[in-house]
Amino acid sequence: MFCLGYSYLSLPETFYSRAQPEAWESPSLVVLNIPLCQDLGIDPQAVADYFLKPEVRDGMPTPFAQAYAGHQFGHFTRLGDGRALVIGERDTPDGRRVDLQLKGSGPTAYSRGGDGQATLRAMLREYLISEAMHHLDVDSSRSLAVVRTGRQVRRESLQEGAVLLRVMVSHIRVGTFEYAARLATEADLRALADYSIHRLYPQAAGDEHPVLSLFHRVMQRQVDILAHWMRVGFIHGVMNTDNTAISGETFDYGPCAFLNAYHPATRYSSIDRYGRYAFGRQPQILQWNLTRWMESLLPLLHTDPNQALTLAQKAVDAYPVAWRVAYSDLMCQKIGLPPGNAEGDTLFSDLLLMMERWGCDYTQTFHALTYGAIESVNDSQMEVDLPFFATAYRTSTISPNDPNVPPASTYPPNNPAAISPAENYVDSDARCEYQAWHKRWIEAVDRAPGGRAKARQRMQASNPVFIPRNHRVEEALDEAEAGRFEAFNRLLEVVSEPYRNRIEFMEYSTPPGPGFEATYQTFCGT
Ligand code: AMP
Ligand code: MG
Repeated sequence: MFCLGYSYLSLPETFYSRAQPEAWESPSLVVLNIPLCQDLGIDPQAVADYFLKPEVRDGMPTPFAQAYAGHQFGHFTRLGDGRALVIGERDTPDGRRVDLQLKGSGPTAYSRGGDGQATLRAMLREYLISEAMHHLDVDSSRSLAVVRTGRQVRRESLQEGAVLLRVMVSHIRVGTFEYAARLATEADLRALADYSIHRLYPQAAGDEHPVLSLFHRVMQRQVDILAHWMRVGFIHGVMNTDNTAISGETFDYGPCAFLNAYHPATRYSSIDRYGRYAFGRQPQILQWNLTRWMESLLPLLHTDPNQALTLAQKAVDAYPVAWRVAYSDLMCQKIGLPPGNAEGDTLFSDLLLMMERWGCDYTQTFHALTYGAIESVNDSQMEVDLPFFATAYRTSTISPNDPNVPPASTYPPNNPAAISPAENYVDSDARCEYQAWHKRWIEAVDRAPGGRAKARQRMQASNPVFIPRNHRVEEALDEAEAGRFEAFNRLLEVVSEPYRNRIEFMEYSTPPGPGFEATYQTFCGT
């Protein structure tokens, strides 16, 4: 048994609905995050007991599902936790307060006909990717445990059911405010804003206009995490307003995936047919989501609706600059330049254009720049460009007659039909273009304080060697579903130290073959 708090229940009753998790027939612990237990000051055995001994759950206050709404793919919908329950809030030894939430714990008042269940595969996927994001230094919900329920869940086929225990500073979302503004009263909306300020941004309470201050603080946090998503090549896949957290944490790992070859239009989600949530669209979508949030806040801005609108417009108009600064700072660091470096933006966007044209792998290109190109700058020009080209060749740009191209048999799941040589690819042009870029880049690095040594430090901290590659994730989940956890545990180990260049794990740094990439799809949380 562990001690929890319930401050959320001080909100009006319209914001939640109590429910018991369903009785699990034969629960068994699949993964338990011991370091996270320690961070929370919870005995790992107590977490196990919570799931394995019904009397422990019975001895605790009844959990609650949160009410919310949201814009899903642009359309407003009434939602709520249809398969999640907050079991309480934990005050951590280092003075933070976090929600502990069960996901897949059975139906609630908001299930809308859904079964309230989750599959083992989907919960393990969330566990793996949320932990990877945390270790990539991206603020994220965390995963404390996954437990098999012993129950079969009906999806396209019957699958094993599981529950995830998720840890997050708060599950309040843009959609919680949309719910209050559209489906509750102004007093409820005010109570939610006051609670959010008090719990998440207490400094805002002392500002001239606490609600505007709340908006600006959340915008800054959201812009910061999004810049980190772009830094590591993360595609959330379902950036609906109910998945945008006021705490500024990444959460709801459904159809998310990581970029391989760089292209801003990359999307993997099977339901994102028009690419609304494609990699390069994410900044625009965040702005759209924050604007929906601001609409909900209007009654709290000013008693005069016109003045409220003026204040709102001004606040929302701050987004493009906030975004540009956050993005530019992190992208400059990806190429070793200090935040705000004048040439950094142009150099970075020129590099992206080359990568897009040649189908270069995002992570490997920056890895090559970090560990190869900056070192070999004094060597022959040939050696300078090799790391970069090696990367490009491994993805979609194939020049079959080039001696530097690895033979086709080295592509993992080899599917010759999927390997399409880029139509207008002229090797020497590409090489010249890259060399010209490289020269400008090195000059900029040398001019910046700290020179190459400092640049390399920045790049090592910004450019992961290992991301949870989509094909590795799926392979680990296939194995886990069959009851074998070696691949899952190994991948978890790899992504737990993503910045260390560990030779023994190098096979995890390579992208999938073109065959995998051409057909890979992700699905909404099942
Ligand atoms: P998500 O796509 O995970 O953000 O979920 C969108 C909405 O669907 C939320 O209100 C979820 O609680 C709900 N939902 C998703 N899966 C289920 C399920 N199996 N049973 C009930 N509600 C669900
Ligand atoms: Mg959601």
